[in-house]
Amino acid sequence: MSLAEQMDTVTDAAAGTVDRHATTQTFESTNPATGAVVGVFPVHDADAVRETVGRARPAAARWAGLGFDGRRQRLAAYRGYLARRMHELADLVHRENGKPHADALLEITLAIDHLAWAGAHARRTLGPRRVRAGMLAANHAAYLEYQPMGVVGVIGPWNYPVFTPMGSIAYALAAGNAVVFKPSESTPAVGAWLAAAWRAAVPDVADALQVVTGSGETGAALCRAGVDKLAFTGSGATGRKVMAACAETLTPVLMELGGKDAMIVDDDADVAAAADAAVWGGMSNAGQTCIGIERVYATEKVYDAFVAEVTERVRALRPGSDEEAAYGPMTMASQTDVVRRHLDDATTRGGRAVLGGTGDGGLPHAGYVAPTVLLDVPEESAAVREETFGPTLTITRVADAEEALERTNATSYGLAGAVFSRSRARAMDLARRMRSGMTSVNSVLTFAGVPSLPFGGVGESGFGRIHGEDGLREFTRAKAITRQRYALPVNLMSFARPPAAFDAVARVMGMVHGRHR
Ligand code: NAD
Repeated sequence: MSLAEQMDTVTDAAAGTVDRHATTQTFESTNPATGAVVGVFPVHDADAVRETVGRARPAAARWAGLGFDGRRQRLAAYRGYLARRMHELADLVHRENGKPHADALLEITLAIDHLAWAGAHARRTLGPRRVRAGMLAANHAAYLEYQPMGVVGVIGPWNYPVFTPMGSIAYALAAGNAVVFKPSESTPAVGAWLAAAWRAAVPDVADALQVVTGSGETGAALCRAGVDKLAFTGSGATGRKVMAACAETLTPVLMELGGKDAMIVDDDADVAAAADAAVWGGMSNAGQTCIGIERVYATEKVYDAFVAEVTERVRALRPGSDEEAAYGPMTMASQTDVVRRHLDDATTRGGRAVLGGTGDGGLPHAGYVAPTVLLDVPEESAAVREETFGPTLTITRVADAEEALERTNATSYGLAGAVFSRSRARAMDLARRMRSGMTSVNSVLTFAGVPSLPFGGVGESGFGRIHGEDGLREFTRAKAITRQRYALPVNLMSFARPPAAFDAVARVMGMVHGRHR
């Protein structure tokens, strides 16, 4: 199928999914490398969003009624559909987000793997089970199960337009919820494609996954549309607005926010491997990765060798939109301003760019940022404190790994990070004490591709978890049930209990618990 035909398919699919209920307003998404229009999408206003959520309600009931097996089978059909069209979707991601085709394939691969895991593990994680009733309710049976919440609203960013929202969508669906997804206004075509794929693969419960398109106002409308939970992935500034809107109706929220992830390179690290990982972790996807490495703390002993290894690798990187390019343009042109502000601030404060910087020399156009390695950047600089979201790395010399950890943890963020050390015990100790939701040892970002591991941050990186068992439970309500098996001669929770009943209870409590000091 030609590119134009593919785009028609996407636009038609999006129209079929959402146009009927939108206002007449539309917006365009454009290719950040060429400026070409990728698609035209409806702006869903509050009424249209509410209508979509209303349509999701009966779909949620039908979807929940299918049970774990019915849902697992349909989630498998969905992932099969995606797997058969990976190149088509990757091409769309490349054109709308700007990342290389291979990187798009990588995020689609991860998303499919999460879909498979969520479908396969939902029953064991969430299904009904009997638990011990304990001493005071020994005559009762106790049951626990995790029930779907109903309709989950998912608001996503543009940087990983398949993988990131799928972290919420796959787990919310597997847990038995319907989903209304609001993709970023920078990647609506990818969002519409994912929903159209669902309709095609799961036609009998097509409304279990729907998309609404538009910018922040559409997202805010979704928060207020009566959803049972709102899963938000994006910046902390928007996360605060989402929480405020959801607070109006006590709608629970999941917050997957930004980060300022650090890598610690210890004395005994494999320096070449650490450098390779830092460059990938910092610069793939043009550095627009929430769990990307933005800061490196290398010990005195390895600092010079590490800087040399990083520099050599970064020198070989070339941004562009062709097959061989290492990374593409910034998805949103406005992000280049943020990166340039950080670079200017770093150099004004005494830092220096050994490679890259704010110059545009050799870049295809102003929407690209050169791969940049910054040294001697003071810790109070924006490039060390704030999320840069560009192809940049700061490398800082520290006395030892303890100082590296102290500096790593001296941030309001706490999403992820990495430790490089040949000592397993030392690396694991540093990883445990890193104030972050996720840490990888001797690699970067690996935890994101392990479906059984929870994904999420601490502090200003958010709260709640996607992925793994925690990710499934995130989209459920724990339901507790007790069933009396037989009546006791004395019922303590009855006005008919004998006056001395609690004297006996107090004696038993004294025997069982009173000996503990
Ligand atoms: P953003 O906060 O600007 O937008 C995110 C989404 O929120 C978009 O769909 C946007 O339309 C919507 N939105 C904007 N205003 C809204 C409002 N008032 N109410 C409801 N929705 C609203 O973020 P972005 O620029 O799209 O994404 C980049 C950010 O996302 C970075 O900070 C990055 O670190 C973070 N991110 C985090 C994770 C994670 O898992 N923790 C993953 C990917 C990206």
